[in-house]
Amino acid sequence: MRVVCPYCFNVNNVPKKESYKKANCGHCKESLLFDDVLELYAENFDSIVVNSQIPVVVDFWAPWCGPCKMMAPEFQKAAKNFALKALFAKVNTQEEQALAQRFDVRSIPTLIVFREGEVIYRMSGAMKEAAIVSLVEGLI
Ligand SMILES: [Zn+2]
Repeated sequence: MRVVCPYCFNVNNVPKKESYKKANCGHCKESLLFDDVLELYAENFDSIVVNSQIPVVVDFWAPWCGPCKMMAPEFQKAAKNFALKALFAKVNTQEEQALAQRFDVRSIPTLIVFREGEVIYRMSGAMKEAAIVSLVEGLI
């Protein structure tokens, strides 16, 4: 399966497995077992979302939004369960207004899940870690 390195944004081909002990980027050698939240911008959004065969789970948020601040640590904890299973990412809609408009994000936080560039799930409203985990498990 194709995965995008969260450090250098090159595409890697990784065999699909139940679990991974080690997987490194063929270009920059960083670990592909990324379990943090990657910041997406207009410049890297398409290459990452389109080239990932694992779901890309994107939190559209803004710094002034209270529920977004409550959800951020829950989202970060949820990401720890999905190294090489799903890529967790976030878009600051205040900085990236074109991305918010393109996906018609009217209320935040909005969670949109992509697979190979297609939207496969979207929902608005803050979510807890357990709800995010079970949602993403249902999509992989
Ligand atoms: Zn890399």
